[in-house]
Amino acid sequence: MIHIIGGGLAGSEAAWQAARRGVPVTLHEMRPGRPTAVHRTEGLAELVCSNSFRGDKLDNAVGLLKEEMRRLGSLIMRAADEARVPAGAALAVDRDVFSHAVTEAITREPLITLVRGEVTRIPDVAEDHAPVIVATGPLTSDSLSSDIQTLVGDEHLYFYDAISPIVLAESLDMAKVFRASRWDRSLTDGQAEGDYLNCPQSKVEYDTFYEALVAAESATVHDLDREKFFEGCLPIEVMARRGRDTLRFGPMKPVGLVDPRTGRPPYAVVQLRQDNLAGDHFSLVGFQTQIKWGDQAKVVRLIPGLERAEFVRFGMVHRNTYINGPKVLLPTWQTRMRGDLFFAGQVSGVEGYVESAASGLVAGMNAAALVHGDAPRALPRTTAIGALAHYVSHADPSNYQPANITHGIMPALEPAPKDKLKRKLLTAERALADLETWMGAQVGA
Ligand SMILES: Cc1cc2nc3c(=O)[nH]c(=O)nc-3n(C[C@H](O)[C@H](O)[C@H](O)COP(=O)(O)OP(=O)(O)OC[C@H]3O[C@@H](n4cnc5c(N)ncnc54)[C@H](O)[C@@H]3O)c2cc1C
Repeated sequence: MIHIIGGGLAGSEAAWQAARRGVPVTLHEMRPGRPTAVHRTEGLAELVCSNSFRGDKLDNAVGLLKEEMRRLGSLIMRAADEARVPAGAALAVDRDVFSHAVTEAITREPLITLVRGEVTRIPDVAEDHAPVIVATGPLTSDSLSSDIQTLVGDEHLYFYDAISPIVLAESLDMAKVFRASRWDRSLTDGQAEGDYLNCPQSKVEYDTFYEALVAAESATVHDLDREKFFEGCLPIEVMARRGRDTLRFGPMKPVGLVDPRTGRPPYAVVQLRQDNLAGDHFSLVGFQTQIKWGDQAKVVRLIPGLERAEFVRFGMVHRNTYINGPKVLLPTWQTRMRGDLFFAGQVSGVEGYVESAASGLVAGMNAAALVHGDAPRALPRTTAIGALAHYVSHADPSNYQPANITHGIMPALEPAPKDKLKRKLLTAERALADLETWMGAQVGA
């Protein structure tokens, strides 16, 4: 038997992996009785912000991570592939279809018992040594957070994160908005005109928007510049304060897009990505923000095409709880202090939906190995999953930052081809070959 605390991306994947190996699982999920600040449903694996699982090609590190997970029988990847919506070179999903697919699979699995209720402390070593996986995510409840702090000491850290607004499609002015993917890269069949809706801005429109953005009131009293935000998810107003053109080289960059009304790239552009299968919700790409809702509506409505935008959800800020991985974890996602205790998902010090699910996959697999009396195993460092595990357990603990998977944390090829694309494709080829060998050794063991 295994206890898994938290039925999010990591916990659901871990439960699935353990059950596939014939091990009974009790999965504890506190919602709906005890909600979090951002979850809205009682579904397992609810996506709380963007509906994107990011890039889905093998020249992209997160694309490789997904492929490795598919080969390892990932439930999260199966559900995501089933719930796919148009999103250029990325894998984006209808969040309700996705969460429903995961919940159905877990509740129908006879070896998994789903228990609704908050776990307030980490269970002690049980008589039967039932392994425990803590997968309670960035919004781990307060009582469990304090217990984790007691276990890991003052290395238990946190920072702030922010999410983007979602608007109703019918409230957009389609006379101003044009559909296109950057560089015409659409992955969706029949979507020749592109996957994104683009709101083009002239210099005058950009300047007006920029002034309003930097003058808007923040929803918290925090000094934004001193807060600890994850660099990959900076609030748009924090980015804007770094310089007038920072956004034009970031989420509002116009490269690879031509406004059909002028035949030229716009001065700046705001991209909208479809957020559900029905196609009636669109999120503003890279527009995570903690501006007060009144001011937020005013600023967003300065964007051409969004003058009458109706909001399905406003952007907001939240706390993100995570442990100092290198101090606490082994590359098997076991804790250094207690071999039967695992952390997985965002709370273990990874960043992102796919990374969270990937860590759950390994933790579930290894907890099941313990139950069978086998030794837990790490994946080869040359795989994306193995590289992530190595980063989480070996990065510099004195300034630890949760990481997305990138080629930068994977071992370099030797010799490395000069051509960047070739290098990335060969890295993927090596990873998948090493993964297949590792999987073969598991079967043979
Ligand atoms: C607001 C926000 C926006 C984010 N945006 C993105 C994004 O756009 N893209 C991206 O890739 N990543 C994003 N992340 C980061 C991360 O990928 C997600 O949080 C992801 O859901 C993490 O997966 P997880 O399984 O670790 O945690 P979760 O999916 O949050 O699952 C944890 C589960 O544990 C439950 N739980 C918590 N405490 C207890 C307890 N004591 N007892 C029982 N159950 C408990 C929770 O209810 C929850 O269901 C965001 C995070 C947040 C908070």
